[in-house]
Amino acid sequence: MRNTPALRLLGVLVGIGLLFVLLLPLAVGRPDPDADAPLPKDVVRKPPEYGKGRAHRAERLSWPLELAKQLARPKAAPRPGEWLFEHPEDGQLVRDLILERPGGGWPRGRVLYLVAIGELSPPQTALVERTAELLTHFFQIRVTVLPPLPSRLVPPERRRDRDFGEQWQTEPILEALPGLRPDDAAGLMAITAVDLYPGPEWNFVFGEARYGERVGVMSLWRNGDLEKEPTLALSRTVATAAHELGHMLGLQHCVAFECVMNGANSQAESDAMPLEPCPACLEKLKVRLGLDPVRRARDVELASRDAGLPTGSFTPLFALWRDAGVAMP
Ligand SMILES: [Zn+2]
Ligand SMILES: [Zn+2]
Repeated sequence: MRNTPALRLLGVLVGIGLLFVLLLPLAVGRPDPDADAPLPKDVVRKPPEYGKGRAHRAERLSWPLELAKQLARPKAAPRPGEWLFEHPEDGQLVRDLILERPGGGWPRGRVLYLVAIGELSPPQTALVERTAELLTHFFQIRVTVLPPLPSRLVPPERRRDRDFGEQWQTEPILEALPGLRPDDAAGLMAITAVDLYPGPEWNFVFGEARYGERVGVMSLWRNGDLEKEPTLALSRTVATAAHELGHMLGLQHCVAFECVMNGANSQAESDAMPLEPCPACLEKLKVRLGLDPVRRARDVELASRDAGLPTGSFTPLFALWRDAGVAMP
């Protein structure tokens, strides 16, 4: 779940204030006019790494994901206000995911479903269709958009008016979804145009999920102006849907590398995350879905380019794999 209650925001602000106070003397006290001179070529400034991610980064992956680790950025040590600062998680090894396999085996579902609740505008409907297409490549399984569900699913006492518009409580949606989930569903994600809140004491929530029941709901409300910034809205929608569906497939937050499965405490932290899973999380998706990481990378690169999303990370990856003799489709 990505959330930002008022207290956390205060935490972020206090954190930024502290950081500013700490950095100010450094900036003011800089004596050397050459301090901005370029560093020698072999000196690379590396941010400190998240210590609890060390064992995760060292875990041996299958070829050629092990190789891809060379290009993955270690998860940076969190700053005040960021997710891992507030929730210092231990993370989940690939081995943990395999051991967590429920007694009856993983749910057999092979299709991910998206469903709108209430009315979406034509551009929002197109956004959901585009998201579904990108998720098909992302997970290498079928993603189907179901006919929209009526907004009466959220009764009047579970709605409230804010100065910017209406908000719906997530609970009645999350209660209704398991009964509406198709038998072959690996996950069902509801999407609303209206802003969401999880309970009376919360300001809002980007989305919420019940992973055991493989259902979730997310809102498009805070994802950006579809006319002015369509690419930002698309990348935010895909990132949230991929992250939440990843949880439904059994992946916990990633602490190993910079990754779409990192926890995020704010929109800014979420926006700074890559759209792609790291090699360790790809290994987990491989365990869960049996996908071929090389074919997947090629598919995602083509689909992302087609959608105007960034593809820069694929070029060095493909070069690395090609140089190592990996057969590229
Ligand atoms: Zn999460
Ligand atoms: Zn990861």
